[in-house]
Amino acid sequence: MQAPIPGVQRAVASGTPSHEYPFDSKVSLVTNHELNMIHVENLSKDYGQVRAVRSVSFDVPRGQVLGFLGPNGAGKSTTMKILTGFLTATGGTASIAGFDVATQSLEVRRRVGYLPESNPLYMDMRVDDYLRFAAEVRGVRGAQRQQGIDRVVEACGLERVYRKDIHELSKGYKQRVGLAQAMIHNPEVLILDEPTSGLDPNQIIEIRDLIRHLGTERTVILSTHILQEVEASCDRILIISQGKLVADGTLADLCEVLPSGALEIEVVGPLESIRQQLAELFVQGHVEHLAEGHARHGGHYFRVHVPLSMDAHAREATFDLIQGNSWKLVHLYRQKASLEDVFRKCTLSDAEAESLAERDLHSRVGEEVAHG
Ligand code: ADP
Repeated sequence: MQAPIPGVQRAVASGTPSHEYPFDSKVSLVTNHELNMIHVENLSKDYGQVRAVRSVSFDVPRGQVLGFLGPNGAGKSTTMKILTGFLTATGGTASIAGFDVATQSLEVRRRVGYLPESNPLYMDMRVDDYLRFAAEVRGVRGAQRQQGIDRVVEACGLERVYRKDIHELSKGYKQRVGLAQAMIHNPEVLILDEPTSGLDPNQIIEIRDLIRHLGTERTVILSTHILQEVEASCDRILIISQGKLVADGTLADLCEVLPSGALEIEVVGPLESIRQQLAELFVQGHVEHLAEGHARHGGHYFRVHVPLSMDAHAREATFDLIQGNSWKLVHLYRQKASLEDVFRKCTLSDAEAESLAERDLHSRVGEEVAHG
């Protein structure tokens, strides 16, 4: 066995801007090679004229479940295929457990289980035969083979369908078989490309629980379009857009640093005057006066959908307005951004985001008019 290549540590935290992030990440500094199961540095991939991945860098510590998000065509599958040794990079380096994915691909494949987006299974085979075949391909032989099969059958809950033909199985069970083949050689790293795509909500929850369980013992990279899935299963989130890494952090970090569109305000003063002046202040926003029941301290309760252009100083401006009118401020709260807000902010251009916000506003106003 070849020794791991030395010197793949990065002296900077994942997310420290050697590339352009829209905001700082708070991911902890990880420099110890032993802790970084996956290391990616300035990775690029061109398909002819198309630059699919642009100088992407990140580290994944051992035992972390990493959610890999991005719109269609962002470069997720390409990055994952490079990490699993299925594609070669145009530039940059990547390593798994210290082994270079390009030059030490046998060592890498030994340590990585991969579930591609298409989950290619042999539909005419029985589950048990297919798993035996997958074990054979992975070089798991002799007594180890049955042990490996027993282990993945239990881990993926395949006992009930073990002797069935794969084409008879539901999509959820087919995904489980795909996961089982990815794990047959007991890899330290699992790379799962949209493992829940096309599943119904019950199946999604089952596979999500399974991934969470698998993630307790392994390092996992998981790409998905389902943001709740990331919230439920992942320790950390990377967002990639047009081949570039645009966000890197825990869910709490990402939501904390991004102001959301809404402010909640409770203020004591003349209702009409407050309403009018808030509407003048947030000209491109939307001021809602909520039922008095919302106000806990005898004031008037408003929710203001803040236009993106005012995100940064919405609270200060509101405070100044209230103070300038000698009204009494009881409550001023910025709603936390959701992962969806973060995703939109990171993956849409400012112009697109403004136009979407405007469209949302019109549909909200339309609904209100419709409801009288
Ligand atoms: P994602 O997984 O985020 O949807 P992909 O990695 O599949 O994104 O694709 C990234 C970009 O690379 C897209 O523009 C896609 O059209 C292009 N691409 C992917 N695979 C190929 C290929 N085999 N040949 C040419 N272009 C490709």
